[in-house]
Amino acid sequence: MTFTRMTDLDLTGKTVLIREDLNVPVKDGVVGNDARVRAALPTIELALANAGKVIIMSHLGRPQEGVAVSQQQEFSMQPVADYLGQLLGREVAFISDYLDNPQQVADSDADLILLENVRMNTGEKANDEALSARYAALCDVFVMDAFGTAHRAQASTHGVALQAKTVCAGPLLAGELDALEKSLSHPERPMLAIVGGAKVSSKLQVLQSLSTRVDQLIVGGGIANTFLLAAGYNIGKSLCEPDLVDTAAKLMETTTIPLPTDVIVAREFSADATATVKAVTDVDDDDMILDIGPETARAFCTLISAMRTILWNGPVGVFEFAAFATGTREIAQAIADNTGFSLAGGGETVSAIEQFGIGDAISYISTGGGAFLEYVEGTELPAVQVLKQRSQTQ
Ligand code: AMP
Repeated sequence: MTFTRMTDLDLTGKTVLIREDLNVPVKDGVVGNDARVRAALPTIELALANAGKVIIMSHLGRPQEGVAVSQQQEFSMQPVADYLGQLLGREVAFISDYLDNPQQVADSDADLILLENVRMNTGEKANDEALSARYAALCDVFVMDAFGTAHRAQASTHGVALQAKTVCAGPLLAGELDALEKSLSHPERPMLAIVGGAKVSSKLQVLQSLSTRVDQLIVGGGIANTFLLAAGYNIGKSLCEPDLVDTAAKLMETTTIPLPTDVIVAREFSADATATVKAVTDVDDDDMILDIGPETARAFCTLISAMRTILWNGPVGVFEFAAFATGTREIAQAIADNTGFSLAGGGETVSAIEQFGIGDAISYISTGGGAFLEYVEGTELPAVQVLKQRSQTQ
């Protein structure tokens, strides 16, 4: 089943409401990492070039629903409106009381409006029908473009799409779905997935789902520690989940999962801890494994170079500390050097890609963390499901 795309519609003279994910870090009114704002720009510019009026809504952080913005100013979208205006070189009208005073939105002369944080609205998280209807009433066309929140059925991502006159997927969301479909439904083989990060438990379903679809699976970071424990190695004081050892052992029975042969250990979890390379068989009871060793990195990089499709989520070490970033940097570089299709997603993964400056060499970087993982697991994202459903009847 497919969905209507914004580019399929004639937006002339229409009021378009776009749900974006502009959830960027804001400190003292200043926008930090602006990747999400920049990712949304092509959609906003395309809508501005074609529609009568463009209204954007997003969430920012985790404010309390039903509490006035004056009492939680740090979650206001005003700085994002100012920043967006600077990037676009045009005025962005900012409207806070769009629910109580929707006429203000309709009467505004501005052709680009940003609404206050949707997560301050009572009923947003519960996907409240009445709130969804109020969003829907603001527009002729609702555009869902926030892939990062597509796994949540909330009023601004799902409920509004049930009630708006016309609904469609924005180019950013459609691009994410196309890239995921390309890499997961018809991947060029051989295909490798690299799943790193802190805990097996948070990625168990994705590991299970990928183990049946890929030719090769590499686990890294805290996740690899649980696999090492399952394989009978001493991992000292390393982060691991002993209750998932059986699960890890089963995954290793069904899929080839190469384990590190050497590791970088430290006695404490800190940026200035002394890093020591050890064979995986030599880890002491006091050691913490914080990165893969050079021999393992070389072996993993050789494996990566033989692949035609690579899916990457999660670092293979504590890359935030320079002494334990080498493994993740080398893996990232090998993915960047691969000429096949590479797809990376997840908050920490995107930070690592930025830190190592290899973004241009990855075929597709997903803006979604949770949504990316749920898609990979095979879960139908609620906000995408409703787009497909509505495209049947509109
Ligand atoms: P996740 O959000 O699950 O992708 O986890 C990312 C986090 O895992 C990063 O902040 C890393 O610092 C952390 N991490 C990676 N490897 C290890 C390790 N060996 N021990 C502890 N934490 C790790």
